[in-house]
Amino acid sequence: MLSYDVVEWGGSLAPREHETSVPTGTEVLLKLKYCGVCHSDVHIRDGYFEMGGGKRFHFGDCGMQLPITLGHEPYGTVIAAGPDAKDAPLGKDRLVCPWIGCGECARCAEGMDNHCMKPRWAGVQAPGGYADHLLIPHPRYLVDADGIDPAWAATLACSGLTTYSAVSALTPIPADEWVAVLGAGGLGLMAIGMLRALGHERIVSVDINPDKFPAAIEEGAAATLDPSEPDAVKKLRKIAGGLLFGAVDLMNNADTATLAMSSIRTGGRVIMVGLYGGEVPISLVMVVQRALTIRGSSVGTVDELKQVVELARNGKLKQIPIEKRPLSEVSRTLDELKAGTIVGRVVAEID
Ligand SMILES: [Zn+2]
Ligand SMILES: [Zn+2]
Repeated sequence: MLSYDVVEWGGSLAPREHETSVPTGTEVLLKLKYCGVCHSDVHIRDGYFEMGGGKRFHFGDCGMQLPITLGHEPYGTVIAAGPDAKDAPLGKDRLVCPWIGCGECARCAEGMDNHCMKPRWAGVQAPGGYADHLLIPHPRYLVDADGIDPAWAATLACSGLTTYSAVSALTPIPADEWVAVLGAGGLGLMAIGMLRALGHERIVSVDINPDKFPAAIEEGAAATLDPSEPDAVKKLRKIAGGLLFGAVDLMNNADTATLAMSSIRTGGRVIMVGLYGGEVPISLVMVVQRALTIRGSSVGTVDELKQVVELARNGKLKQIPIEKRPLSEVSRTLDELKAGTIVGRVVAEID
């Protein structure tokens, strides 16, 4: 099999030929057709997260060894299964939920694999989808996405699920109140689409790159704001007619988090999703007196992914712009994601 791997932190992904895995036990093997390219992979390729205060979390320091195969939005055909993989849908195309836990802890038992402390996420701790084959531990991580454009379906595994789970943490949202979506990249557009799919309309898309606003409007944003403009906070309050009910921060750096927390009304909620990183000083009294909820949200569960697929299938969730590129161009795509120049989602096409 062929995979495009990180062979040195920060370097270009390199094609590598190796033996195709043979599924044992409950394992399932897929021949991949697509894999969405997510901004998180930029951080993993570069080898660190910015933790704030100048500190960096280096993946190499916590035991992650190169080479690794990234890619956590895989879609493909189930071609083989181990003897204990009961009901594996052989020959069928399936979306893979990559957020796979240890399978043994209490969180995994309650279906909250995404909160497992010993994760085996495909494309993070375990090999991922920038490859022509993918082995996963159990058929329960396969989701039937028939009826949806498969390239788009691939993107639901991370950008769709992550934003659905984050937006669900905001609901119910009073219809006459505003929500800010910070960042208008792939996740930002998807978050706008999720809010619209769940019936909310008063959405302001916030991004420092106004080139992304037409796509945000097309996806359903009612207003846009460039936070680098003078008086951006005032402008945001003008759009909302005051303070906002909530914000979903798909960037989550010091600037966006500060803007989000300073724009929320009493009882409001900020959901942090992005991994740009950094830190902000927070007035603890303000959090109490304004009864703020500041909540982190990381990916989602298999059940939530099934709900996202259903929203897409019944037409409630609008498709974001998708650009297909050969898998061999994945490094260029990561570079463009880092530069912030991609509109919508790039999906690697694998043959
Ligand atoms: Zn992702
Ligand atoms: Zn677990």
